[in-house]
Amino acid sequence: MMHEYIWACSQCFTCWIRCPFVNNPGGLVAIMREVAVRNAFEATKDLLKPYGRVLLKVMTTGNQLSADMLQPDFFPDWGPKMADNMENLRAKRLAIPFDVGKSVKTAWEVSLETAIEMYTIWRETGIFEMLEKLDPNLYNVIMDIVEENEERYEELYEEEE
Ligand code: SF4
Repeated sequence: MMHEYIWACSQCFTCWIRCPFVNNPGGLVAIMREVAVRNAFEATKDLLKPYGRVLLKVMTTGNQLSADMLQPDFFPDWGPKMADNMENLRAKRLAIPFDVGKSVKTAWEVSLETAIEMYTIWRETGIFEMLEKLDPNLYNVIMDIVEENEERYEELYEEEE
């Protein structure tokens, strides 16, 4: 169950709402997932491998997806029409009638301050450590970006002082 079933839960918490005794299987699943990740089970590593791009984006920018990730070979299960969506991507983004930061690399603009706050949360809650155990290569890539942004932030902060 730790290797398979816990990852099939969508964390909708319908079970919690419906249970006459207010039991919370979805909450238990969340705890079991954390145990699986913290202990870097082999099955968990395999399972999370396809989400490398998403993890990279989330952990460095706070965005789960960006327009430039909508590519057929990134997510083959999204079907053959995905390639059409990539045509004129920048023009399509600019045509969106509200501000999306005019970027294809993030879904919305993330300030350096927000990114630094996020990195602090990842650090303080042990998320970076978990990632290092699960996927050392991805961890190194992410830490390069994090450290570069932290240095940039420090330089800006020193200039202001
Ligand atoms: S176990 Fe609960 S939270 Fe998970 S998918 Fe089923 S109903 Fe939803």
